[in-house]
Amino acid sequence: MKIAVLSVQGAFIEHEKMLSLLGVQSFEIRQKRDLEQEFDGLILPGGESTVIGNLLKELDLFEPLEKKIKEGLPVLGTCAGLILLAEKLSNDANTYFGTLPVIVRRNAYGRQLGSFYTEEEVTGVGKIPMAFIRAPFVESAGADTEIIARVDGNIVGVKYHNQIGVSFHPEVTGCTRLHEYFLQTCQVHSKP
Ligand code: GLN
Repeated sequence: MKIAVLSVQGAFIEHEKMLSLLGVQSFEIRQKRDLEQEFDGLILPGGESTVIGNLLKELDLFEPLEKKIKEGLPVLGTCAGLILLAEKLSNDANTYFGTLPVIVRRNAYGRQLGSFYTEEEVTGVGKIPMAFIRAPFVESAGADTEIIARVDGNIVGVKYHNQIGVSFHPEVTGCTRLHEYFLQTCQVHSKP
């Protein structure tokens, strides 16, 4: 199994470390020719969604990745990655892939004071540590979108077919369980 990590900006190295702890091969997507190889899943990391979104377009990565996600490639979007997947943003006119039927609020906890750490239950995963860094949350989710995590009543984790989106950073906590959960989806998808 091989997982692609979008590596144009943000916390991509931390995701690679998680995958390597789990003994899973990964590689970085930085330019269009990186897409020539086969892969079984994609991680969209946290960072600055506007910057990542603009770079995706400038580097001609946007359309090929959008096509793969629409065709069912398993994808895990964390923080800015969730924003990139969202169908709509409630406080920003931009949308990016728009493949995940949720409305997301950027910087939902405030820009400066919005960083915190907690532990909460994720459906199918258990109680895991969560680091929120200027995080978004999901304001509303489509009827077919499964809500897998809430913190203080706010939706911070969703799953829709092969797409998993979380508001928090699972890659900076030393806990690999959310990545293992994502890899299960990748494994099912990669079966011939
Ligand atoms: N605030 C960032 C944004 O709106 C997301 C923060 C993050 O990924 N840690 O793009």
